Amino acid sequence: MNIASDFKVQRPAFLSEHPKELFIDGKWTPAISGETFETINPSNGQVLARIAAGAAPDVAMAASAARRAFEGPWSHFTPYERQACILKLADLVDRHFDELSLLDSLEMGAPLSRLRANSHKRAIGRLRFYAGLATAIHGQTIENSASREMFTYTAREPIGVVGAIIPWNAPLTSAIWKIGPALATGCTVVLKPAEQASLSCLRLAELIIEAGVPSGVVNVITGFGESAGAALAQHADVDKIAFTGSHFVGQKIIQASAGNLKRVTLELGGKSPDIVFADADLDKAVMGAAMGVFGNTGQVCCAGTRLFVERSIYDEFIARVAKFGSDLVVGDGLDPKTQIGPVVSKEQLDRILSYIQIGLDEGATTLSGGKRMLDAPLANGYFLPPTVFGSVKDDMRIVREEIFGPVVCAIPFDTMDEVERRANATPFGLGSGIWTRDVKKVHRLAKSIKAGSVWVNCYNVMDPAVPFGGNKLSGYGREGGVEHVDDYLNTKSVWINYN
Ligand code: ADP
Repeated sequence: MNIASDFKVQRPAFLSEHPKELFIDGKWTPAISGETFETINPSNGQVLARIAAGAAPDVAMAASAARRAFEGPWSHFTPYERQACILKLADLVDRHFDELSLLDSLEMGAPLSRLRANSHKRAIGRLRFYAGLATAIHGQTIENSASREMFTYTAREPIGVVGAIIPWNAPLTSAIWKIGPALATGCTVVLKPAEQASLSCLRLAELIIEAGVPSGVVNVITGFGESAGAALAQHADVDKIAFTGSHFVGQKIIQASAGNLKRVTLELGGKSPDIVFADADLDKAVMGAAMGVFGNTGQVCCAGTRLFVERSIYDEFIARVAKFGSDLVVGDGLDPKTQIGPVVSKEQLDRILSYIQIGLDEGATTLSGGKRMLDAPLANGYFLPPTVFGSVKDDMRIVREEIFGPVVCAIPFDTMDEVERRANATPFGLGSGIWTRDVKKVHRLAKSIKAGSVWVNCYNVMDPAVPFGGNKLSGYGREGGVEHVDDYLNTKSVWINYN
C-alpha cells in the first residue's frame, strides 16, 4: 500500500476570518440555543472549527426569511435577472474554487487534486446549466374542447420555499444541485448541510449574496439531522424537500413531510451492479470497475459495489482489481499525491469495519484491504484501504446492504439470464455498469436493469444535462437534465373565456 506524506498544509482564511454561524436573511446568526459542535478533519482527527448547532427555532427563522424573500424582492426578478445572478455565482465559485475545495477536502477528506479537477468542472458546469434553464421555463397554450370561444394556457410557477438537506460526500456540488434549480425557477432555500461538512456551504452562502441574490433567498442552517434536519422536513411553511442521503432518513422525511403534503424528491443510496463480460476491454474495465467503487473512498451513492465478473475471467480480473486498489495512494486529502483520502468520520470508519467483520463472519474472504491503516502518518486519521471481497453469496449482508466505504463484493456469473436476474435482485436501483464489446449484451441489459443510470464501458460519469436519480429504495425525482426544474415548479392552468 502506498502512503502519501510530506506536503505543505494550507489553512483557508475562512476558518479564522468568518463566523461559523447560521446564515439567515443574509446575516451571520448564532443558534438561538447558543449551542455549537465541532467539525473534525478526518485525515488527522483534529478539530477544524466550532459550528452553530441550529434546531427547530432557527429553522423557523430561516423559513420565514425564505418566505419573505420569496414573496418580496426575489419575486420581482425577471428570468433574465435570475440568470445573470447564477452566471455571476458561477464566476465567483470559479474564482474562489481553491478555497471552497480546500474547505471540502479538510472537512470530508476528499483528495484536493481530484476536487480541483472533477468537482470544479461539476460545480461550475451545473451552475451554468441552471442559468441556461432560468430563461427557458415556459408553459403551453392548449386548445381545449370545452368551448370554441375559450382557450387555456399553463404557467409554470416556483413552488416556494425549498428545504434542501444534503450529505457530506460531495458538499459543494450537492448544495449546487439543490440551489441551482431553486435560483433558476425563483424558489428560495433553507439549506441543511451534513453535520460532518458544513464549511463550503457557509462560504457559498456568502458568495450567493455577492452574486446579487437578495438576502433570505438562500439560508443555511448547520446542525444535526435529528434536530435541524427533522425540523426542516416537518416545517409547515416549507413547500418542498430536496433530500440526498440514506434511504432510512428518506423514509423519515416522507413521514415528516406529510403534515403539509410537501413535494419531496429523494436521491438515496444504492447497491449498484457493475457487470464485466469476458469480451470487454479488460484494461479499461479493471480501472473503471475499481474507481467505480474506490473513488471518493467508496462514499458515493451510485458506487458499483456488486462487481459481477464472467466466470472465465473471474480469478484474473478480481486479482487485477485488488492490485489496482492496493496500488492507489492513500493519504491526507491535502497531499497532492493522494488518490484515496480517509473516510469521513470515526463513526463511518467503525460502521465500515463492522461490515467487513460481518462479511468475514458470513464466510467471505478478503483479497485485499480489510483493516484500518494505523501506521504513521495515517494513525490519527480514519483510513481504510480499498477492500475486495471474494467467496461471497447473494444473501450475505455485505452483498445486500449499502456499506458506503471502499469495499467491493466480487461475484462470478455464467450466463446472461443469470446475471440479469442477480443484478436486479436488490431493493435499490441507482447506478449500474456494463463492460463488453458486444452490442447485443449492451442493449439487452441497458433495457432490463432496473436503475436510474446505466454506464456502458465507463462508470459514474456525470454531466449537468443528463438526469441522475434512482428507482425503488434509491428514491425518486431526477437531478440534472432539463426535467430537474419541474420539481421546483407548479403548473397553473388558466382558462380564458372570450365569449
Ligand atoms: P449519510 O448516511 O450519507 O450520512 P444520512 O441520510 O444519515 O446520510 O444524512 C444525510 C443528511 O440528512 C444529513 O444532512 C443529515 O444531517 C440529515 N438527517 C439525518 N437524520 C435526519 C432526519 N431525521 N430528518 C432530516 N434530516 C436528517
